[in-house]
Amino acid sequence: MTFIKSKKINRQEITQRLSQYAIPELVQDKLLDFLEQSQNAELYRFNPRLMADHLGLDERLMFNLLAVSMREGLFTMNWEVQCPTCGFQGSYFNSLGHSRRRIICKGCEHSFEAHFDAHVQITFTVHPNIRALPKNLTNPADAIAAFVRKKEQDGEVKPVTAHELLTVQAFRDFFKSESLPEGESFEVRRVAILFTDLAGSTALYTRKGDPNAYDLVREHFAILRQVVDSSKGAIVKTIGDAVMAAFTSEAQALQAAIQAQYEIEQFNQSRKLPEYDRLSLKIGLHAGPSLYVNLNERLDYFGSTVNTAARTEGQARPGEIVFTDAILNAPGVGDLLAKYSLENSEVQLKGLEGKTRLWRLCPKPI
Ligand SMILES: [Zn+2]
Repeated sequence: MTFIKSKKINRQEITQRLSQYAIPELVQDKLLDFLEQSQNAELYRFNPRLMADHLGLDERLMFNLLAVSMREGLFTMNWEVQCPTCGFQGSYFNSLGHSRRRIICKGCEHSFEAHFDAHVQITFTVHPNIRALPKNLTNPADAIAAFVRKKEQDGEVKPVTAHELLTVQAFRDFFKSESLPEGESFEVRRVAILFTDLAGSTALYTRKGDPNAYDLVREHFAILRQVVDSSKGAIVKTIGDAVMAAFTSEAQALQAAIQAQYEIEQFNQSRKLPEYDRLSLKIGLHAGPSLYVNLNERLDYFGSTVNTAARTEGQARPGEIVFTDAILNAPGVGDLLAKYSLENSEVQLKGLEGKTRLWRLCPKPI
């Protein structure tokens, strides 16, 4: 029998750190047991999806729990790069600020550009202050970490990409203070972008006065934040009273748009707002490749997919959702649209070559 090093952790201290967040006690207990009872290798560069599976937690709940745990210093996060040619996972950076797009594989010497939704994967390691792991586990080529990766490659558990984690609101908020190195950018092959704008907000401000109008606008932001989060997306930024959000799935972006129109209508009804004071959203959606960049000290998306999404929103009338063929033809979208009628038209969008076919949907309250 091999001697097992003590795995004692300070449960009381960790509970205290987590108590300021609304984490159910049962979930806290599961996390504490995981930290205490796991083998060393299970706490080293682990896949958060594997951990969700292990703890029997919903994946999104797991991501949120990890964001909080990172903030409280329970885990460190690794940005791991997998070579598209040989599959070797030997390069990694320990923060966004140390990331670099151009990678030379240590396995096959192939030089490639790492995409955030293909080659950059996120793993976590228990923080040494919480539980110290033996030194020999810190070798990236460690056999057990390789075993975990093999399980992923065999299709049992998919790795979590950087792009997936950056469309989780809690992580976006966590990375507010972190930025890519100067001039660095990362491609994503596919991101769904949603823009909203409040119709008639200038008139609303004039009528109600700035403070009252601002209260309404803030409440509308809270509704959108909740809707976007529950559809597995993240708000990237607000511009005046407009919102830009990002999703890994087009269907989830459209789901958020439909839900947002529904919730705003509910809000109008619950407040018994007169016709002329009712909030009304214009929403536009588009999907395609994009670049992660730093803009105005924030991790943002850049390129024609974002421009097209913004222009598409500009074509929406109050209460409408307007989207492109890229959304219409994506997996899962047909099912969402089954009960709505659509109009389509070819439109010349400002700054874009040729005409773009736009689809227009006005979801009636269910
Ligand atoms: Zn390689």
